Amino acid sequence: MNSSFDVVIVGGAVMGAATAYFLAANPDFDGSILVVERDTSFAQASTALSAASIRVQFSSALNVQISKFGISFIHDFANLMEVDGDRPNLNFHAGGYLFLAGSDAQVQTLQRNHEVQKQCGADVVLWTADELKQAFPHLNCDDIRLASYGHADEGWFDNMGLLQGFRAKAKSLGVTFVQDEVIDLYKDGQKIIAADLKKFGRVELGWVVNCSGPRAAQVAQMAGLNIPVEPRKRTTFVFDCMTSPEGSATVNGGRLPLMIDPSGVYCRPEGKYFMAACSPDPDRSVDFDDFDPRYEEFEEVVWPVLAHRSPAFEAIKVLRQWAGHYAYNTLDQNLIVGPHPEVTNFVFANGFSGHGLQQSPATGRAIAEWIAYGAYRSLDFAEAGYERVTLGKQVLETAVI
Ligand SMILES: Cc1cc2nc3c(=O)[nH]c(=O)nc-3n(C[C@H](O)[C@H](O)[C@H](O)COP(=O)(O)OP(=O)(O)OC[C@H]3O[C@@H](n4cnc5c(N)ncnc54)[C@H](O)[C@@H]3O)c2cc1C
Repeated sequence: MNSSFDVVIVGGAVMGAATAYFLAANPDFDGSILVVERDTSFAQASTALSAASIRVQFSSALNVQISKFGISFIHDFANLMEVDGDRPNLNFHAGGYLFLAGSDAQVQTLQRNHEVQKQCGADVVLWTADELKQAFPHLNCDDIRLASYGHADEGWFDNMGLLQGFRAKAKSLGVTFVQDEVIDLYKDGQKIIAADLKKFGRVELGWVVNCSGPRAAQVAQMAGLNIPVEPRKRTTFVFDCMTSPEGSATVNGGRLPLMIDPSGVYCRPEGKYFMAACSPDPDRSVDFDDFDPRYEEFEEVVWPVLAHRSPAFEAIKVLRQWAGHYAYNTLDQNLIVGPHPEVTNFVFANGFSGHGLQQSPATGRAIAEWIAYGAYRSLDFAEAGYERVTLGKQVLETAVI
């Protein structure tokens, strides 16, 4: 391996691989690219532990547009990622998302977000409780005031397929992938000039991109920088249902979309089973290596909420569970993407919470444009920039699951 690269990407899961692909595929960039990944089994990467869903129902217009690009990219994935006749299929299920509001505040949030989504051309509809009941008669709608359903551009797909597609294509375009760990970064004035890799040693570099997921703050710290991102644990449960809930065949073929209960518990079909999780309360930062599932969340939170929402969910059996980490931005729960304002060759791709998988195509493209042109050309990521961290100014995303 060379000991000098134009771009070094720290972290080779979905964000690192997407960034590498978009850089390598950019006709105006001909530099060398190194992706350093400490664990190529990806056993603890958020990418591998994700619910792998995509939605356009966000509160920020930028996030809606990011996902609109994400969905078009997923639809065209086989063409774009073809390598030697191998055409990866992400097995996209257009299941839709269904947000339920139970309080005045939640109703207002859904209405406000709906306006933003419509302005961005998203195919979403607001339903009264009666309309919701017609679409999904098995749901208990007594405490529901409003629902928001995405007719199109929402669903779930193969997360590891997305990662492997990006990696294979980037490799075919000349990107170097290495299993190693970035353990330090070196500055000369306000420029990062080198990285130390645990096994390989020193690598000189022109740019460094922080794609280290929940470890974002650790890697930023190596450059003497701070980022308000910490690991927050989410336990996902897969369960079987004695009686499968049947909806009206006219909506989504009677299948439940990814439903977000007013309590924050979410649930979606997973093959013939279901997948569900909740946002823990309190929701504290955890150790980088703490992946013990919180088993009690099922009995104490998830199951009671689901059983209240539908009689079909009264008799259910957990088949498996796992814990993953959100890379949680404590400032505003939103992505932080772009260069540091002073250390300008250090680029962030961090703080994606529970929506980084779907945001990886647009983010990878944005960073590639920034490095190639010094400007965003396709979608303006300026509001996602690091400057707001310095100013303590929120760009709040309210539709965080
Ligand atoms: C339970 C759960 C459900 C989710 N559901 C969804 C969803 O439905 N839809 C969606 O869009 N998103 C979802 N997400 C979020 C999404 O999975 C993440 O935002 C996305 O995968 C982030 O990708 P990443 O590459 O930034 O981080 P990661 O996948 O965590 O990868 C970071 C990589 O960096 C490596 N690394 C760290 N430090 C170093 C270092 N010093 N040197 C070398 N390598 C290093 C790590 O080993 C890791 O592989 C979910 C996440 C979780 C946990």
